[in-house]
Amino acid sequence: MDYDVIIIGAGPGGIYAAYELANADHGFKVAVFESGKELKDRKCPIDGDKIKKCIGCRSCSIMSGFGGAGAFSDGKYNITNDFGGTLHEHIGKEKAIELMNYVDEINLSHGGEGTKLYSTANTSLRKKCMQNKLLLLDASVRHLGTDINYVVLENLYSELKERVDFRFLTPVRHIEVEDGGYRIITDEGSYTCSKCIVSVGRSGSKWMEEVCGELDIPTESNRVDIGVRVELPAELFSHLTDELYESKIVYRTEKFEDKVRTFCMNPRGSVVNENTTGIVTVNGHSYEDPAKQTNYTNFALLVSKHFSVPFKDSNGYGESIARLSNMLGGGVIVQRFGDLIRGRRTNHKRLSDSFVTPTLKAEPGDLSLVLPKRILDGIIEMIYALDKIAPGTANDDTLLYGVEVKFYNMEVSIDDHLETQHKGLYIIGDGSGVTHSLSHASASGVFVAREIIEQAV
Ligand SMILES: Cc1cc2nc3c(=O)[nH]c(=O)nc-3n(C[C@H](O)[C@H](O)[C@H](O)COP(=O)(O)OP(=O)(O)OC[C@H]3O[C@@H](n4cnc5c(N)ncnc54)[C@H](O)[C@@H]3O)c2cc1C
Repeated sequence: MDYDVIIIGAGPGGIYAAYELANADHGFKVAVFESGKELKDRKCPIDGDKIKKCIGCRSCSIMSGFGGAGAFSDGKYNITNDFGGTLHEHIGKEKAIELMNYVDEINLSHGGEGTKLYSTANTSLRKKCMQNKLLLLDASVRHLGTDINYVVLENLYSELKERVDFRFLTPVRHIEVEDGGYRIITDEGSYTCSKCIVSVGRSGSKWMEEVCGELDIPTESNRVDIGVRVELPAELFSHLTDELYESKIVYRTEKFEDKVRTFCMNPRGSVVNENTTGIVTVNGHSYEDPAKQTNYTNFALLVSKHFSVPFKDSNGYGESIARLSNMLGGGVIVQRFGDLIRGRRTNHKRLSDSFVTPTLKAEPGDLSLVLPKRILDGIIEMIYALDKIAPGTANDDTLLYGVEVKFYNMEVSIDDHLETQHKGLYIIGDGSGVTHSLSHASASGVFVAREIIEQAV
């Protein structure tokens, strides 16, 4: 065999698996194949000036390369089983939390020291939420921030590259089962290994589907989350964000009994465009460095949709809605909450008169022409519910950007060792459909690496 272990994908799942294997002192020969670039070479060409739109690079620097989809993220590591994936259903709740804490220690020792850990334990906000038909989910959140997250990745790479073979810009095309292991096929040649860890994340979802087809690994469709990003003055949410940084709050609508939830809260942050294969959606981030902070807080309000029979393509449904907003607004649309409620579009005049200055240059428009009624009604109900715990949320000038879509990979059939029916072939991270977050994906990498180490003892 060329390698003891080949890891496909250098996102958090692949990186922390490589870290654990490299530190095991077993002399494992490990390679990581990554379709994207090295961290320092990851640059999106969109500069808002000469290049305004996605030009379809061979490898998307936002989603691919060392650090994976999370490389330029806000770096929020949520230590919890309540959201971020269902890893605990495979490995148990205690183990999952233990591994997430272990990943946190690695992050702290690689540049994250001094960053703050927030917690919902003992907060009085839970009671306030309950009194207003809202549920506050339990979590501890390590907020690295976009800047420190990058430093941690830089440090991990400079340590790992001495002990692990990294092959960038080398997408794996196929995996073949060989006697006693696996052969992975790339454009530059093929390589054999005893164990193979697949950690290809969201950007590798189509490829993952092909691999599962070729190797007869069963899959199931997953959900899609659709909604808007809310932006309002940071003071209105400061009692929540100062104590918890990110509060995950769930509301059950009265009209349809759908669940609407807050997602990815960025105190004093900025709203940003996200580009998924040419479709522009909205996201947000914030910096640890006070010099880069704004006067506004943003967060998403999302509703989950899961389709099964006869239509299965939940992601396709989300894509169509995002495409509609791109068609009407040329990209992301922004609307004042007051205009939405009055049934009129926001225009440039109304936006410039607003007390909230948008942090993202988006086209003023009408989200009711884009979002399905059921989803929009749910979002409006939740904004009024949030207004009770954070008065001012339902102000006319609160900005709603749309659409925000969270795509999920299909769920791949893996056992409690995160192993497929093919012995030694593991599928981890977001590519497995089991995790949807930095901490869960990273923990799944450590888990599988430890399984491999134990077998070698
Ligand atoms: C803008 C943004 C902000 C986010 N913010 C947060 C946050 O604050 N907190 C949080 O918990 N989560 C956040 N997330 C989600 C988080 O980034 C993901 O959950 C996490 O990165 C998943 O890790 P992963 O290793 O499973 O996959 P990924 O990070 O997606 O990495 C997979 C890697 O595999 C590579 N790959 C794909 N196919 C192949 C192939 N065939 N051959 C070789 N390589 C391949 C890809 O290029 C990629 O680098 C954010 C995501 C985005 C996009």
